[in-house]
Amino acid sequence: MRCLITGGAGFIGSHLTEHLLGLGHEVVVLDDFSTGSERNLAPFSGHPGLVRVVRGSVCDRETVESCMTGVDAIYHLAAAVGVFTILGNTLDCLRTNLHGTETVLETARAHGVPILVASTSEIYGKNTADGLSEEADRVLGSPLKNRWSYAEAKALDETLAHLYGVEYGVSTVIVRLFNTVGPRQSGQYGMVIPRFVGQALAGEPITVFGDGTQVRCFCHVHDIVPALVTLLEDADTHGTVYNLGNSEQISITALAQRVVEATGSSSPVVKVPYEQAYGPGFEDMQRRIPDCTRARERIGFRPRRTLDEIIAAVAEDLERQGREIPAS
Ligand code: UDP
Repeated sequence: MRCLITGGAGFIGSHLTEHLLGLGHEVVVLDDFSTGSERNLAPFSGHPGLVRVVRGSVCDRETVESCMTGVDAIYHLAAAVGVFTILGNTLDCLRTNLHGTETVLETARAHGVPILVASTSEIYGKNTADGLSEEADRVLGSPLKNRWSYAEAKALDETLAHLYGVEYGVSTVIVRLFNTVGPRQSGQYGMVIPRFVGQALAGEPITVFGDGTQVRCFCHVHDIVPALVTLLEDADTHGTVYNLGNSEQISITALAQRVVEATGSSSPVVKVPYEQAYGPGFEDMQRRIPDCTRARERIGFRPRRTLDEIIAAVAEDLERQGREIPAS
């Protein structure tokens, strides 16, 4: 098969590119290199199956069209991501996340190819249920609070994908990713694990935002990527949405301590008020716990990597690449 990966130079996209190449597929990467990087593609840039890397925007129909020669499937991962990114450039991010998805869906429709649309657990907003199933309600703050614009855009992307399936017969599958982490993820856009590990390795204070009681579940990207491929390649799974994540819960304070222990760091753990970290009026999610029963029953999805393995992998990656995590 030949697959188009939008956002293929990003964190998850580059792992997906690598995985598909390993399966013997050909890959076309479309990326605007806003948060993606050449370095993410470097390990396999000479691979004969990597057909083309196209630098451009998913909002530009001609560019997307130019990637489609011989393409049998689309993985639409391109998006403006990271809380710092969204808060720093809210309107542009909203446009990218709305128009980009519509453009890629329109292209999938024109070519009659199946498409996987990457969504996010962020769409559940402030729902603190102990296990968010795909049918769980969305509990969002005001649409005038910039943080929620990412959830708003992604939820509309899902609705668009759903309707392209129902009304136009496009074969679509939607995945909601819960805090996917691992090597190559950058802390620069706000993601907590590369930030904490980077701070620990540099001996800088580990910055826990808010009171640190907020809970997340972190899933290794290597557990996620094969599931994306299985879901898109199995037509029986199309036409619906799947949560993908790990159910191991941890508070952000406990995460900071775990990172200190795992890296043998002498960094202190400090609390930073949300307002200082993100600006006034910021609302966080107190708990975000996935229920992945649907994915487990349909494709046998079972994440295997533990949080300790994740921290070790991120530390090794940051040390190897000498990546600098900006001080908070
Ligand atoms: N966080 C933190 N320190 C940081 C970066 C993030 O305490 O340096 C917190 C953040 O406020 C949130 C959690 O860690 O409560 C997860 O943040 P991330 O941006 O990784 O993911 P999301 O908020 O989308 O779950």
